[in-house]
Amino acid sequence: MWIGVITIFPQLFDIFLRTALVGKAIKKGLMRVEVYDLRKFADDKHKTVDDYPYGGGAGMVMKAPPWIKAVRSVSEGKNVHRVLLSPQGKVLDDCLVQQLAKKEALLLMCGRYEGIDERVSMLVVDEEISIGNYVLSGGELPAMVVIEAVSRYIPGVVKRVESVKNDSFSKGILDYPHYTRPRVVEGISVPPVLLSGDHAAIEQWRKKKAIENTLQKRPDLLTKEEENGSINKRS
Ligand code: SAM
Repeated sequence: MWIGVITIFPQLFDIFLRTALVGKAIKKGLMRVEVYDLRKFADDKHKTVDDYPYGGGAGMVMKAPPWIKAVRSVSEGKNVHRVLLSPQGKVLDDCLVQQLAKKEALLLMCGRYEGIDERVSMLVVDEEISIGNYVLSGGELPAMVVIEAVSRYIPGVVKRVESVKNDSFSKGILDYPHYTRPRVVEGISVPPVLLSGDHAAIEQWRKKKAIENTLQKRPDLLTKEEENGSINKRS
């Protein structure tokens, strides 16, 4: 999968793209990520990418021409899905992540200031995506969130496919609780079934705990699943 990112702060991605699972996936060639500096697509000698808002107001607005030029130039020759990171977009969830992971190429557009001139959305954006109902100062962290979430669904990135399948949300419910050594921590022991070696019993326990976890922490998910009748279908 190819992922392009357009930003005025390309340096923010340096460590992120060299570290942990995303870094490994790129090194192994499982995904390719290219980061473009929006300023390189500005025409004036000062490389201006923002200007005062029509109608007045406090903040600056990102100008349309550099964005349009950047998106068209970067997308050329690719079957690319162009995503604008925006607090006004569809809120990212596991279902949307899985849809994005199926795309051949993704272009992530990171806004700054008060946002981007509306005509950019009208002309060169396929979808607006938000990472939650709050406002950040820029789209770079949301882009990283999308890259990391999508990467987990690219075959080979996460070694054990079952671990992605059991993760919270992929079956519509939360994950089961995890334990590792030591066996006892401040008087709290690992549940005996996990030490039993009985794989069927462990599987059963994990299913039960995943549902209990969901009931306790996110009962809204169970209501949704009941409505869709999908817990059993997906597990
Ligand atoms: N004035 C805009 C509004 O209220 O909708 C907010 C602009 S925000 C300060 C600047 C940029 O940060 C946005 O263009 C977007 O790219 C990014 N951003 C901020 N919050 C975000 C969120 N929750 N999800 C995705 N992108 C976000």
